[in-house]
Amino acid sequence: MRLYWEDPYQTRFTARVTQAWSEGATHYAVLDQTLFYPTSGGQPHDTGVLGGVRVTKVLEREKGGEILHVLEAPLEAGQVVEGEIHWNRRYRHMQRHTAQHILSQAFVRAAGWPTVSVSLARPTCVIDLEADPDEGVIRKAEALANWAVYANLPIRAFFASEAEAAQLPLRRAPKVTGRIRVVEIEGWDLAACGGTHLRSSAEAGPIKILKYEKHRRGTTRVYFTAGWEALEDYAAKHTALKTVAEHFSAQPLEVPARVAKLEALLQEVRGALQETQRLLAERIVRELLETHPDRTIAALVPAVVLDEVGARLAEWPGVLALLVAPEGERARVLLTQHPERGADLRALWNAALRPLGAKGGGREVLLGALPAARAAAALEAFRKAVR
Ligand SMILES: [Zn+2]
Repeated sequence: MRLYWEDPYQTRFTARVTQAWSEGATHYAVLDQTLFYPTSGGQPHDTGVLGGVRVTKVLEREKGGEILHVLEAPLEAGQVVEGEIHWNRRYRHMQRHTAQHILSQAFVRAAGWPTVSVSLARPTCVIDLEADPDEGVIRKAEALANWAVYANLPIRAFFASEAEAAQLPLRRAPKVTGRIRVVEIEGWDLAACGGTHLRSSAEAGPIKILKYEKHRRGTTRVYFTAGWEALEDYAAKHTALKTVAEHFSAQPLEVPARVAKLEALLQEVRGALQETQRLLAERIVRELLETHPDRTIAALVPAVVLDEVGARLAEWPGVLALLVAPEGERARVLLTQHPERGADLRALWNAALRPLGAKGGGREVLLGALPAARAAAALEAFRKAVR
């Protein structure tokens, strides 16, 4: 017997173990009645304690619909046990599930969008709707759903025969045959469902749509959060936004404008920096060419312009250059030449730089790094090697 259908607010129960067995370290028990909800209909299973043993998972057997309790330690058939479910976890599932019914109906009322599937496995729940995305419909459905929350509508579940159910204006056709469980949110929604629900729509609020996206062809995926989890989401986001706002000495709602301003400033600074680097590189190249009439160059350069100076030098006929750019404890190294200079860069690297611990590689340009303390020694070794 499924006690969670009788009263979804009950947390403790007594039951008799009808079957118990183990498969390796996994232990199973079936009871004559249970409050433990098995994973089904998009709603995750309960957890809790049974006869002093932790229940880690609850499954429903496809054949026969028996409920299997997965346990950390074995129980014995015939044993009478006390059970208790983790209420905090279950209540959140009830909030998610009830909010989903409310929201699915809100989409029907807003634009006739039918729900095709749901996932209530995480605090951010998912509803897939058969329609192309439409911002206006999303906003309208969210408002309608919260209206249904604040209307404090009673919720009840009852069983109907197939014939009776066929007469009801069910939002969702039953997936089971025989006795059908119907969940009614008074004046709002009727759906065939085997899950656990709240006693009033008011307990499901607030319902907040977090985002939506085009999913498969002709389907919109809507992400929402409800109840305590919506409040927690609000609190976490408020804290994050407040922290950012304090950095700007601004109000939370001023943050987007401040960030946009900062981005524009960053673009400007980037442009100015590039221009400065270009001018600096130009000047260094001119000086190096003047001070090295033989165009065999060994020099220290600032790390920010290493690549640019290397590229520009290699454009000058006759140039063979080793550039070293200290940067903290490492120094970046660049070995390059004009395409017609014809030096064996690889051989030079191996003779002068490798003994100093330089690591790196490349073809037309060799790039690498060595300990900064060996920067001067690298320049000296290079000069010797090319002499
Ligand atoms: Zn349901």
